[in-house]
Amino acid sequence: MKKSRLKRDLGSILGKENVTIGGEEEEDQIGKVWDSIILSLGFKILPDAIVKPKNTREIVKIVNYAFDKKIPLIPKGGGTSNLGETLPIRGGIIVDMKRMNKFEIDEDKKILTAGAGTYWREVNINLKSKTLALGVNPPNEDSTIGGFVSRGGYGIGSLKHGSIGNQIINLEVVLPVGLTINTGYSKSHFSYGYGYNNHWLFTGAEGTLGIITEATLKIHHQKNLKVTAYKILKKEAMFQELRELAMSGNFLSAVFFDGELSKTELGIEAETGIILLLYEEEKEEAIFEKEQGIIPVTERDFDLGVLLQNIYVQEGFGGEVFLPLDGLFNIIEVVRRLRESYRIQGLVGFLADPESIVLRLICNKEEKGLKRITLIGDFVKVAIGLDGRPYGSGVWNSFWMEEIFDENTLKLMRKIKEQIDSQNIMNPYKNINYPKSRIGLTTSPSLFQTTTFLKKILEKISL
Ligand SMILES: Cc1cc2nc3c(=O)[nH]c(=O)nc-3n(C[C@H](O)[C@H](O)[C@H](O)COP(=O)(O)OP(=O)(O)OC[C@H]3O[C@@H](n4cnc5c(N)ncnc54)[C@H](O)[C@@H]3O)c2cc1C
Repeated sequence: MKKSRLKRDLGSILGKENVTIGGEEEEDQIGKVWDSIILSLGFKILPDAIVKPKNTREIVKIVNYAFDKKIPLIPKGGGTSNLGETLPIRGGIIVDMKRMNKFEIDEDKKILTAGAGTYWREVNINLKSKTLALGVNPPNEDSTIGGFVSRGGYGIGSLKHGSIGNQIINLEVVLPVGLTINTGYSKSHFSYGYGYNNHWLFTGAEGTLGIITEATLKIHHQKNLKVTAYKILKKEAMFQELRELAMSGNFLSAVFFDGELSKTELGIEAETGIILLLYEEEKEEAIFEKEQGIIPVTERDFDLGVLLQNIYVQEGFGGEVFLPLDGLFNIIEVVRRLRESYRIQGLVGFLADPESIVLRLICNKEEKGLKRITLIGDFVKVAIGLDGRPYGSGVWNSFWMEEIFDENTLKLMRKIKEQIDSQNIMNPYKNINYPKSRIGLTTSPSLFQTTTFLKKILEKISL
């Protein structure tokens, strides 16, 4: 469609000040991680337009328009996800959700109702001033409520409270056919009893099934938080001990730093690594009863949020995986070997539950473009070999879907996508479908593997 037509049509829906044609403002952000020149050879990377709706009504109008014209829509919050989740690989319209940022805290009912584009930072400042908190938080507060839900949302607090999916009372969602639905019984009552549990359908869907416009989430009282650092002495004893600590229900989070990151980020020498335990103040005594495989090393109080925010920057992203806890030390060994080919700073991760850890590889920010994509691929492959799976799909992890879902499950998910989004306009060719390249070719796992293999050969030759 002609740019002038798109501008006129979208401007008449939202007012022209809320429409940008072209996507140059995206390029900087893409370049930081993916090296946009290399990427743009294979895929479209810039949108045809960016729109900034302010309410659900406007979203419905945009969706109806896109459905009519078969234009891809890419919902976007803070844009902090790392796997190309918001890359408009077939062009289309980025729906910037950040103007949908009104929220309300109901202290009596203990619920938060927030526009999907609300920043976590804003919500947390307000909740904290009332000694309230959400069960789980992303380490990155520059992300939005809708973005965290759409990424499946494991973060600080998950060990105790589960993922963001466990906090949801209701999601208001605009479907690709322009209908608005609520996944709960009402905006303040959780309804799950029978029927399909719809809010889980949109949790982790990465914007491929609809646009979340509002979320109602459980909140609870929270006292002052403390962090204690523990040194890992005996690997073998540590797992048992960590599981027991995790199951005690005393801790919001247990965060692992490998030897390298312990030194650079925490200033603590620890060959095997450090665990930071996050808990409410009065639980302290329970921790000190445990002293076998791990011992307390410092009284210093760490600000876990700030620490993780500094380490988890997009430019340092080298992959993120779920891993059974007992695969932890195997993967550390493999990462040592990966250092021969890549510049890697270390491994950091938090327990998602007593049995599994969400582990993030931190690489040097100079590793960009295809080099970074091959690193993510190598890291995820190792994790799958250890019964793990990638955390999030976006573009780059979609190549693993056949290894992590059985055939029938994948068929069911693709059927759901087809039924809900018959025109395939909602963040298309991602998550449970392979990406389509610029020339319309589906990028199959074999094509992807050949490309990354050639990249490795070229690098070896040029050394
Ligand atoms: C410092 C840092 C720390 C991080 N830590 C974690 C972590 O611990 N756990 C974790 O899960 N992730 C983490 N991430 C990844 C990512 O930042 C988070 O998942 C974040 O919550 C995504 O939110 P966002 O608003 O930036 O979403 P975006 O990056 O804008 O979007 C993410 C996905 O959600 C979709 N989406 C966004 N808004 C909507 C909506 N309203 N409706 C439907 N779909 C939508 C997008 O299309 C995209 O697929 C981290 C990233 C960084 C840089």
